[in-house]
Amino acid sequence: MTALLSTDLDPRTLDFISSPRRMYIDGQWVDAMSGRRFDTVDPATEQVITTVPHSGPEDVERAVTAARRAFEDGPWPAMTPAERQKVLWRIAEGISARADQFAQLESIDNGKSVAVAKAVDVTWAAEIFYYYAGWATKIEGRTIPVSVPWAPGGRFHAFTLREPVGVCAQITPWNFPLVMAAFKVAPALTCGNTVILKPAEQTPLTALLLAEVIAEAGVPAGVFNLLTGFGDVGAALSAHDGVDKVAFTGSTEVGKLIVNAASGNLKKVSLELGGKSPQVVFADADLEAAIPGVAGGFLFNHGQTCTAGTRLLVEDAIFEEFTQGVAEHAAGLRIGPGLDPINDIGPLVSREQLTKVTGYLDAGIAQGARALAGGGRHGDTGFYVQPTLLVDVDREFSVYQEEIFGPVAVAVPFNRDRGVREAANDTPYGLAASVWTRDVSTAHRVAAQIKAGTVWVNCHNAFDTALPFGGYKQSGWGRELGEGAIAEYTQTKAVNIAL
Ligand code: NAP
Ligand code: MG
Repeated sequence: MTALLSTDLDPRTLDFISSPRRMYIDGQWVDAMSGRRFDTVDPATEQVITTVPHSGPEDVERAVTAARRAFEDGPWPAMTPAERQKVLWRIAEGISARADQFAQLESIDNGKSVAVAKAVDVTWAAEIFYYYAGWATKIEGRTIPVSVPWAPGGRFHAFTLREPVGVCAQITPWNFPLVMAAFKVAPALTCGNTVILKPAEQTPLTALLLAEVIAEAGVPAGVFNLLTGFGDVGAALSAHDGVDKVAFTGSTEVGKLIVNAASGNLKKVSLELGGKSPQVVFADADLEAAIPGVAGGFLFNHGQTCTAGTRLLVEDAIFEEFTQGVAEHAAGLRIGPGLDPINDIGPLVSREQLTKVTGYLDAGIAQGARALAGGGRHGDTGFYVQPTLLVDVDREFSVYQEEIFGPVAVAVPFNRDRGVREAANDTPYGLAASVWTRDVSTAHRVAAQIKAGTVWVNCHNAFDTALPFGGYKQSGWGRELGEGAIAEYTQTKAVNIAL
């Protein structure tokens, strides 16, 4: 089936894709009840890799029933924290032990570099499970002195418990398939919840391998369930009365649909949505570091990163020099299949994304934008787009306003005396930003002015599992990673005992 891929793949990866995959419900490997399947495609070659089950409403019912039973009656929420910690640790070790297989599957399914997939995606996913393994034993309530006003002289002992939320539906995108699953599954499990994961239709493979690792780590039946399928499955989970929480990463448009769908039973909702993040470059920045740093800030993962720094706000005194430097850097990158580690820029995930991104480029250029680098598709096989830097951009242009989700940035000059606050916040999004300067006062002042969940200084995309991650404004609700995710996956119960 996959002769085109066979040259560079590890035998275990080849074995994984050489048979149709099954999804994982209630501790069993199953097909969709309808028997339907769908293809997953290698975006570098446009060839089918393998097929996966095309789940539907009846599979959603089966998964919700299993997850509910595992939550209400199963051993998982009742297990000691130390026992859950060991299971999470084994998941982390299982990911690390299969790092090459995960990296190759991510590369062929998504298009990203196999070297980056191993160094970033797989390493980080394992780290996230190690990190949340440690949290299992550290989720604590408080004792609170109370003075109940209508019980004068009464004595009470009051305390809080942090309890799991219940059945969690987790809907993930295709840009960092394994990492996005880890962001959600690890904290949910450590807190004692049960999970139904719905990966993006374009990239189901690493979630399927993660399900194998989770099963081998000793997670009881029904605690972790995986449904491969399309948006209708995500919608059914979001609307289901048997689901207590939905966690979503993806487009703002679908985020709003999920909020509406969740209103039936007022399930908890956390959302990590899009961005149009600014990178603010001051004339006093260390340009030797800032030029490749800012370029990497919008080109990492071929621009398919929710935090991509795609609006370059550059102080007017250095605008020409800086944008020329970024354009030269972008033009020097090597474009080609992710399986060849020599390549810097791989294909976009799908033909749909190729059409969307080149559509933005055509519209921007027709409106008067000028491409200092790139400007269109690369080649005619595979979904490649040239790394592109646009200047002469007005704020009315769609390339300035909207999330493009490809290797594209716009650059606009600013004047130091007039400030950069307004331009930096000129977006409905508020996910991230970076500030490039050698002046520590400028760094602090501008970091405080920007309405975003993360501000980096002299770096971009410098994530850490211990740091809370999420959006201001229309970039989302709630926080993932760090202690923030523990808050998302627990609820607080107050207990007050009259003594
Ligand atoms: P998307 O539609 O938001 O997909 C994200 C996830 O939501 C997928 O698992 C998707 O399933 C599922 N889904 C789709 N419709 C749903 C619904 N009504 N209810 C519940 N779940 C639903 O994103 P996309 O269409 O793949 O990409 C479109 C744009 O979103 C991109 O161009 C980019 O701008 C943005 N995006 C942002 C991020 C981010 O990290 N913030 C990630 C990916 C994409 P299917 O895969 O079957 O559609
Ligand atoms: Mg695919």
